Amino acid sequence: PVVTRIAPSPTGYMHIGTARTALFNWLYARGRGGKFLLRIEDTDRERSTPEATAAILRGMRWLGLDWDDDAVSQFEQRHRHAEVAHEMLARGAAYKCFATQAEIEAFRAEAEAEKRSTLYRSPWRDADPASHPDAPYVIRMKAPREGETVIEDRVQGRVTFRNDQLDDMVVLRSDGTPTYMLAVVVDDHDMGVTHVIRGDDHLNNAARQQMVYDAMGWDIPVWAHIPLIFGPDGKKLSKRHGATGVEEYQAMGYPAAGMRNYLTRLGWAHGNEEFFTSAQAMDWFDLDGIGRAPARLDFKKLENLCGQHIAADDDAALLHEITDYLVAAGRPALTPEQAEGLGRALYCVKDRAKTFPELLEKAHFVLTARPLEIATDAGESLDAVSRGILKELTPRLQNASWTKDALEPILTETAAAHGLGFGKLAAPLRAALAGRKVTPSVYDMMLVIGQDETIARLNDAAG
Ligand code: GLU
Repeated sequence: PVVTRIAPSPTGYMHIGTARTALFNWLYARGRGGKFLLRIEDTDRERSTPEATAAILRGMRWLGLDWDDDAVSQFEQRHRHAEVAHEMLARGAAYKCFATQAEIEAFRAEAEAEKRSTLYRSPWRDADPASHPDAPYVIRMKAPREGETVIEDRVQGRVTFRNDQLDDMVVLRSDGTPTYMLAVVVDDHDMGVTHVIRGDDHLNNAARQQMVYDAMGWDIPVWAHIPLIFGPDGKKLSKRHGATGVEEYQAMGYPAAGMRNYLTRLGWAHGNEEFFTSAQAMDWFDLDGIGRAPARLDFKKLENLCGQHIAADDDAALLHEITDYLVAAGRPALTPEQAEGLGRALYCVKDRAKTFPELLEKAHFVLTARPLEIATDAGESLDAVSRGILKELTPRLQNASWTKDALEPILTETAAAHGLGFGKLAAPLRAALAGRKVTPSVYDMMLVIGQDETIARLNDAAG
C-alpha cells in the first residue's frame, strides 16, 4: 500500500510550495487507497515554534488535506534516531569521530591552501576503537568513497552522484541529538513511507539519505523530486510576486476548492484538463504527469478557476466557507439575518465572482439595511425625474404578484411611458435597491429582498 507524507519544518508561515507538495502527496495516497501522513520536523529547537505548527495545521485543514493517524513530532522521535545512529555504529556503517572544531577548521584551511578538496576526511574513520579517547564525539556515517550513488527519481530521471564528492556526514551530534539527514530517513522508514514526493531542493539530500537506507538495509522509497514554484517572471517565488503564504490566500477570499484545483495544475497536467474536482484529481493524479520545468504562478488562472468553483459549489458549502473566510480576513461575522439573506441571494451572486469579497460585494444589497447608504456614483442617477418615476412605481408594485414575469411588464411599461428604455430606469433602481451602481439584475434583487422591502427602499430613494 502507498504511504506518503508531508514533512514541514515549523519555522514560519505555511508556504504555498509546502501546500502544493502536501496536495500532491495527499492526491497520490488518496487516489490509491493509501495513507497520507503529517510529520512536523521540529528538530531544530531554536527555529521551531508552536505558532508555526498551528499555522501548518490550519492551512492543511483549510485546504481539506486530511492526514491519517496523529501528526508526528520529529523531535519526539529523537531517542529512536540516536538508537539508529548507534545501530549504524554496531554495523560498522558509522564511526565515532573525536575531531574537534579546531581540527576540522585546520583541515579545511590546509586543504584550501593546497587546493585540495575541502571535504572533511576524518582520521577516526578507520581508527581502532581501543585507541578512542574519553572525549566528546559525533557519529559520522562511513560513506562509500568509491563508485556512485544513483537516485532513480520519478520526476528527475536517473541522477548520479559521485561518492568521492560526498563527505562522511554527521548523523548524531556530540550532545546526542540527531541531524536532520538522519531523522528524516529514520522517520520515513518507521512511518512506512513508500513514496517521498517533495521539492527538488532536496534532491542532493536524497543521495546522502539513500546511503543511510543502504547502511541500514532498509527499502529505499520511490523518490519524486518536484520542481519548485516560480513567480510569473520565472524567478524564484518571493513576496515581491504576491502572496506566498497559504493563509494569505484564505484571507484574500479564494475558495479552497479553487486553490486545490489551481495548485494541482501547478506543475502537473492531465491532458488539457483545467477545471476539475478533487475526486477527479485523485483519480487522475500520477507522478508521470509532473513536469520537469519550474511551475510559474499565474494569478489570472488561479482567479479564473476560483470563479468556476464558486459558481459550481453548492450553497450550504459556500455559506460555510464564506463564514470561515470572514474570520480569516478579520472581517465582521454575518448576523443571522444577513446569513439567511445571503443564502437566498447566492443563486444570483455566485456566477462571475472570483473571490469571496467579490461575491459579498455583489450581495451587498441583501447584506445592507435601511436606510441605505447610497454610493456617490450610484446616487447621480437619482435626479428629480427618476425620483418621480420611483414614486409612481410604488403603488403599481403594491398590487403586483411577486414574480419576474409579473414585474417585468410593470418596469418596462413605466420606463416606456416616460420615453425611456429600461436601461435608463435600471440605474436609479439599482441605486435605490442596493445603493450601488453595479449589482445583480434588478429583478433578482427585488425577488430576493421581497415586496415590502423593495417598496420601502424605493420610497426612501424617492424622498
Ligand atoms: N522538513 C523539510 C522541509 O520543510 C522537508 C523534508 C522532506 O520532505 O524530506 O523542507
